[in-house]
Amino acid sequence: MIQGIAASNGIAIGKAYQLVTPELTYEKKSIDNPNKEIERLEDALQTAKQELEQIREHTRKQMGDEHAEIFSAHLLVLDDPELVNPIKDNITNENVMAETALEKTTNMFIDMFQNMDNEYMRERAADIQDVSKRVLAHLLGITIPSPALIDEKVIVIANDLTPSDTAQLNREFVQGFATDIGGRTSHSAIMARSLEIPAVVGTKKITDAIKQDDMIIVDGIAGDVLVNPSDDELAAYKAKQEKFEKQKEEWAKLKDEPTITADKEQVELAANIGTPDDVTSVLSNGGEGIGLYRTEFLYMGKNQLPTEDEQYDAYKSVLEQMNDKPVVVRTLDIGGDKELSYLDLPEELNPFLGFRAIRFCLENEHVFRPQLRALLRASIHGNLKIMFPMVATLEEFRQAKGILLDEKQNLKDEGADVSDNIEVGIMVEIPSTAVTAKQFAKEVDFFSIGTNDLIQYTMAADRMNERVSYLYQPYHPAILNLISTVIEAAHSEDKWVGMCGEMAGDSIAIPALLGLGLDEFSMSATSILPARTQLRGLSKEKMVSYKDKLLSMSTTEEVVEFIKEKTE
Ligand code: PEP
Ligand code: MG
Repeated sequence: MIQGIAASNGIAIGKAYQLVTPELTYEKKSIDNPNKEIERLEDALQTAKQELEQIREHTRKQMGDEHAEIFSAHLLVLDDPELVNPIKDNITNENVMAETALEKTTNMFIDMFQNMDNEYMRERAADIQDVSKRVLAHLLGITIPSPALIDEKVIVIANDLTPSDTAQLNREFVQGFATDIGGRTSHSAIMARSLEIPAVVGTKKITDAIKQDDMIIVDGIAGDVLVNPSDDELAAYKAKQEKFEKQKEEWAKLKDEPTITADKEQVELAANIGTPDDVTSVLSNGGEGIGLYRTEFLYMGKNQLPTEDEQYDAYKSVLEQMNDKPVVVRTLDIGGDKELSYLDLPEELNPFLGFRAIRFCLENEHVFRPQLRALLRASIHGNLKIMFPMVATLEEFRQAKGILLDEKQNLKDEGADVSDNIEVGIMVEIPSTAVTAKQFAKEVDFFSIGTNDLIQYTMAADRMNERVSYLYQPYHPAILNLISTVIEAAHSEDKWVGMCGEMAGDSIAIPALLGLGLDEFSMSATSILPARTQLRGLSKEKMVSYKDKLLSMSTTEEVVEFIKEKTE
């Protein structure tokens, strides 16, 4: 059994699909028949073309024209005589293998395009690189896995799944996944929860231990993966799977019930989403609002920025589907483990501490303003609240809000309708902001605590690095004290506080957060009903009475023991 980090609930049983880019190495040999090499090249080009056409068609059907665009660009590269002819010339003139000529010629073009000032041309370099890899693989007789082409039920095995890989996965066929790297709050884990598929991450060695088509079990509840299980194991996990399904039916009974504690105190249970499609699952899981709409996904899986109108359509769709329930939209939080290749940002040594989120938006108003305009225009379609990510100083908040108000005025001058009741808040993800929450509370309309980042910055432990994942300690007294500071500061100014980090849906954290006075808990849609069940059995008054004791504890272990003892 391979152990990892339980990232998304449920049990998946099925065939493994290795999503690993194979090594494309070969031995250089001298050739005696250049014509034969040209023929091999033409065959490989032809196969690559057929494959790309198939991928483009699949992607278009599953995900729409926009996602398919990238493959049209790849097909254009394959058909370009200005690229293909020099490869053939190279074979005849230098008497080299098709592989060598392909690499030499494409590398020359890649270098040339990469060094151009024009962003469009730089993107072409990436296209040539991708296409060249695909053709080289065919010359070597190797197949490159294409997630978009999966058309049978499988469990995906990968070193890591980037958010754009995950966006390409077809929910109908991908039953679950397991990765080598990542933690509970890496974005692959978060996506798995929103796709409602079982996942185990951070196993360190899954790609080595599993072969294509092995029969595997992914236990996303315990964080275990079993390879080629025995009949007994299979039966035991099928029973566990059934029990989990039954439990889900029990939870579902509370779908339309309010979230009230045993002593009749009400809190709000909201959901985190990444796309308008996720709203269906929020509603079917009884979500009372959206506490975090991660808009980054609108910017991913394509090769250019989304237009203002595209964004407007997405925001309007979410607001309308939620039918006047609160929807908190976070402005672009790019950076960290969420990259946008077309923005061509320089690589950084510490991306999580780098030029990301609001820092990037304040310096790139041509990206920030269209998003704010799209949000403001959509505001008349529901109950919109806007929040800025990764705010470290009050000046950043003031500057961001200033740009928002500026665009609001512009839209009004243009005769557009904009709501006058949009709350504007911030995410509390950086310790400096938590510590000075009192000062922020005078100016913001609300806080939403992003514990995924707040914990990594407070404990100085990269959330993507499984070797330090033991320091992801949501119940550590340092974290509880920061959360309490934020809640007290907000309440003293009559402002509300939500939490949209993964901690909000954690069954050990929930009683503590109730006691600290949290108003809104925002989590993966699938955690809402278990959380509602739990909250209905808790007394808020009792939890509040434990607050001082909890805040004065010394270790995570003490906190956990105390909470378990008091909630049994
Ligand atoms: C967080 O940091 O807690 C958060 C909700 O934002 P993200 O996970 O998208 O960084
Ligand atoms: Mg964050």
